[in-house]
Amino acid sequence: MSPAIVWFRRDLRTRDLPTLTAAAAAGGAVLGLFVLDEALLRPSGPARREVLYATLAALDEELGGRLCVVRGDPRVVVPQVAKEIGADAVHVSADFGPYGRDRDEAVAREVDLVRTGSPYAVAPGRVTKADGGSYRVFTPYFGRWLDHGWRVPADTTASTVAWLDPALPIRVPIPRAGSTSRWEAGERAALARWTEFRDNDLAHYDATRDRPDLDATSRMSVYLKYGCIHPRTMLADLAGRPDAGPAAFRRQLAWRDFYADVLHHRPDSARRNYDPRFDAMRYDSGPDAETAWSAWCAGRTGYPIVDAGMRQLLAEGWMHNRVRMIVASFLVKDLHLPWWRGARYFMRHLIDGDLASNQHGWQWTAGSGTDAAPYFRVFNPISQGQKFDPDGDYVRRWVPELRAIAGARVHTLDDGRPLGYPDPIVDHGVERMEALARYGELKRG
Ligand code: FAD
Repeated sequence: MSPAIVWFRRDLRTRDLPTLTAAAAAGGAVLGLFVLDEALLRPSGPARREVLYATLAALDEELGGRLCVVRGDPRVVVPQVAKEIGADAVHVSADFGPYGRDRDEAVAREVDLVRTGSPYAVAPGRVTKADGGSYRVFTPYFGRWLDHGWRVPADTTASTVAWLDPALPIRVPIPRAGSTSRWEAGERAALARWTEFRDNDLAHYDATRDRPDLDATSRMSVYLKYGCIHPRTMLADLAGRPDAGPAAFRRQLAWRDFYADVLHHRPDSARRNYDPRFDAMRYDSGPDAETAWSAWCAGRTGYPIVDAGMRQLLAEGWMHNRVRMIVASFLVKDLHLPWWRGARYFMRHLIDGDLASNQHGWQWTAGSGTDAAPYFRVFNPISQGQKFDPDGDYVRRWVPELRAIAGARVHTLDDGRPLGYPDPIVDHGVERMEALARYGELKRG
């Protein structure tokens, strides 16, 4: 019986993996394959690469040291490996991103590519309006998403199949994560983190999810990014839980599916305004704009919550959702710089960097995306800090210069700025009016 290949991509796990069921059904031995593809590695900074390598090492362990890792263009190396071992099928979870779709079409011309399942609870393209069209507003999408439902978790483990030893001449060693990696990687860590969150913080998630100081969100985004856990595994645990915490969490998982659906229907929106009226938006450029950009990147804008967020990003490769919205709004509406610059910077530094959620999170904030936030909504970085970090703990955690300032005064700095902490690089009141004027020009056409 010919062997088959399970080509791992965004599904770096063995539990609840329908591709394993499909590969096992063929009855032959299975080679577990991962391709280090420079086209996907290039936009990642060192932190996300480290998480990937650590995750691959964990998967290799699950497979008893039998994960075959090769480097190169998958269009070339996947057919090459298939030929080398005489595989008659290559099993994958479907990829709906613009790059992944093109890549898979090319590979499918060379090998029998069998797509089973996807990284989403409900795959892109499945939730449609009555007339068959796609949604551009989340709330009605969410209603249909709930009605559509999702599979029950698949009953798979590494022992579902007989793994082939990857004794291939082209195999490359798995790069080991460096000592700086603070992330517990892999599917066991993902399940442990989920269980911890489910048992401790889920019940009050609705009340605490907007509070960066409490750090009470799941932090599952990194595990979801690499598919160390499938969302349906979590959704199964939420079944029969109509209370506010689980309901709010279910809704957030639906946002992830929604943005993947939007990107599927509009692949151009990864780079361009979803709403083409925004193509006429005026942005700042020149030396002052570059100085402002550098201050934003380094967390030295003089606005404490913005600086705390940007420093958390550099230190942890992660940022709380509320703070992502605040820093994104500041870049676009206070500094008048284009959303795609911020999005690219996030994709470089975030360990959960996900094209669909990131580009559309940015476009939502800029007002050019789906569910467009009303253009007149310009986040005030001081009152956002007072509201969502009411005792100032989040700011003090990430901005050491401000640690001696007690309570919420850390947001207003009423008694002056400590030595070494910058003055505000812009006046929020002035820039808010400027942003409104520019949005007004778009509205008038
Ligand atoms: P939780 O609050 O515990 O939520 C659980 C899960 O729901 C998350 O892991 C995520 O998969 C999903 N989710 C929650 N909120 C959103 C949302 N607004 N959009 C899409 N999915 C959501 N998320 C990413 O995974 N990758 C990104 O690159 C990314 N970039 C973003 C950029 C901006 C400007 C904004 C405003 C949001 C971005 N998000 C991104 C969404 C959100 O900030 C993160 O998913 C969330 O902060 C991850 O932390 P968590 O796992 O603790 O979230």
